[in-house]
Amino acid sequence: MNHRSKPVSRLTIVFILAVLFSGSILTWFSINNISNLKELTEKRIIEEQRELSSRFSSAVQRNIEKVTTGLNKEINLFDVLKDSVKRIAAGNIFIIQPFILKNTGQLLYPNFTGIPENISEQRFSAGFRSAFRKGEEAEFADRNLIKAKNNYLSCLNYGTGAIDSAKALNALGRVAVKQNKNEDALNYYTLIISDFFAATDENGNPYTYYALPQLLKITNEKNAKKILPVVEFCLGKIETGFIPLNYNTEELVILVTGWLKTISAVNAEKSATINKLATSIIQQVRFTIKYGNELSELLRKDNPGNYITAGNDFKVVNSVAGTKNEFILINTNYKNPAGFLFDRTKLFDEILRTELQSGLEFSYKIDFPAIYRAKPTNDNLIYSPQLSPWFPDQQIEISLINKDLIKNLVNRRGLIYGIASLFLLVAMCLGVALILRDITRERNLARLRTDFISNVTHELKTPLTSIRMYAESLLMERVKTNDTRKEYLEVVLNESERLKRMINNILEFSKTEKGRTEYHFVKSNLTSIIRSAIHEMSYWFEKENFEVVTELDENIDAEVDPEKIKQVVENLLSNSIKYSTDVRQVFIRLQKAGDNVLIEVEDKGIGIPADRISHIFEPFYRIEQKESISGTGLGLTVVKEIVDAHKGIVEVNSEPGKGSIFTVRLPVS
Ligand code: ADP
Repeated sequence: MNHRSKPVSRLTIVFILAVLFSGSILTWFSINNISNLKELTEKRIIEEQRELSSRFSSAVQRNIEKVTTGLNKEINLFDVLKDSVKRIAAGNIFIIQPFILKNTGQLLYPNFTGIPENISEQRFSAGFRSAFRKGEEAEFADRNLIKAKNNYLSCLNYGTGAIDSAKALNALGRVAVKQNKNEDALNYYTLIISDFFAATDENGNPYTYYALPQLLKITNEKNAKKILPVVEFCLGKIETGFIPLNYNTEELVILVTGWLKTISAVNAEKSATINKLATSIIQQVRFTIKYGNELSELLRKDNPGNYITAGNDFKVVNSVAGTKNEFILINTNYKNPAGFLFDRTKLFDEILRTELQSGLEFSYKIDFPAIYRAKPTNDNLIYSPQLSPWFPDQQIEISLINKDLIKNLVNRRGLIYGIASLFLLVAMCLGVALILRDITRERNLARLRTDFISNVTHELKTPLTSIRMYAESLLMERVKTNDTRKEYLEVVLNESERLKRMINNILEFSKTEKGRTEYHFVKSNLTSIIRSAIHEMSYWFEKENFEVVTELDENIDAEVDPEKIKQVVENLLSNSIKYSTDVRQVFIRLQKAGDNVLIEVEDKGIGIPADRISHIFEPFYRIEQKESISGTGLGLTVVKEIVDAHKGIVEVNSEPGKGSIFTVRLPVS
């Protein structure tokens, strides 16, 4: 026995060791894997941050190049150049203001005259001068407005150019206002604006700057519709630079926007157009005041090559006059140097709106710290390189949107490995348990088989010894009386019956094991089958002094194999005899219960402990008793096999020391 179980136990130890070994390797690998994952993810994030940073830099470059490629050196015509820079500015919201300079550094666009340095002598013809002087005398000294008007009108005849005409028309307008002749005034001022908008007085102030406020002043319900397009035209000319800007412009524009609110003839669209022109004009004025000097400085610089080139001969200059966010993009190689004032923040915002992060594994937040950070904070992987050579002080800070990304990733992976390891552990334990159970089973079965062989030998020996003994006595004619001879013969017969029953059980079991049992079901009378079984056992009942009580319903028929059912009953009766000690009573009952037939065998014997009942039908199973009772452990196994074959069930009701009831429940058909 022992030498057989040994290899199995060794195998178990090998198995457990293998499981422990592979389990530890797996755990080690998973821990390693998690730390690798962390490292790899961090690396990946840094790579992506670098990638994003370089994407951003190239986007800045692309946007600037997009602006500069539209312009090239061939553009030497001021008007064409002006149209180009204005068009480009309108198409890019990050451009605050386009500009064009004279090569001396003065601004050409925006066209701001400021205070002319040397007020130019305006030359008028002698006739014009004398007529105009007479007009002024009449208007201011004599206060004769009619005479004044006539004189000014005659000036128009002497007029040779825009300036004299505008000067005369302006005086005529003034007189018309004084005369309350609004209609006339409107016509004079409109003429100045539409035909002589470029004309300036001896102080360099455009006549339109006088004409426009006058027009606004004389506006009423009736003429508003007429004045509105003139106002729009005038602002348009100022905006495009045909009428120069000066220090009065802003005040003039404010006057117009204020006036616009009081006009009922204006619709929303027109009002928007005029307001847009007004904003642009004010922007130009402020730009000129703020950057004018810086721009001319720029041209005067000995070596403009110091500035960083941005392609197409343009240079990026970080503005000194403006805020940190403003920079100038200028091409000094044009006949008229030109360029743009950029809003860095708007440019960055515009780039951030593009699909900058497409194709990246993680999502990032992009910031532009206002203060230069020598060392980026490391805890959530911020990458902060310099953004672009054009903006040496500008950093870009790229950080993960999900700050806990790596922590979560590691936790999740850890959880997966944890669960997997747990499953593995459970599976391993299950494997070990199964192996141990199989080993125990194997051992039990081996023990049962060995017990069976010794039991069978013993069982066969007892009846054989009796048979031999009695047969010998008969043969040697030691028996004198006929009664004794008959008695001896009965012993031989009954012992051989007992032998047959035993052998039948063994045969039955072995056939079932091999699946070769044959059943012959016929409609049979169960009462007579049971009677015949009792009859066969009667010798033993008498011999052992048993009281047999039968309660058999008559004429109970069922579809059964009569020989096998008889074997069942005989086995049960034989057990009743074997396992009864003091009270020697057997009850045999047969009755119908619904569709079933119940065969009951009851004894008042030693009974069966409750925890053993489930085992007694197992092959070779025997409960060890104090005094040895012979048996093979197959009787009940065969009972169960036969009852199963009849689609019935066997039930046991037993109490140790009190007795047992075996009930066989068979279906009628
Ligand atoms: P055997 O009787 O040859 O040992 P069985 O298969 O007939 O084998 O019975 C199995 C075991 O069940 C017996 O060893 C015995 O312990 C128990 N047993 C069977 N019938 C009875 C009974 N009527 N009373 C008490 N114990 C019984």
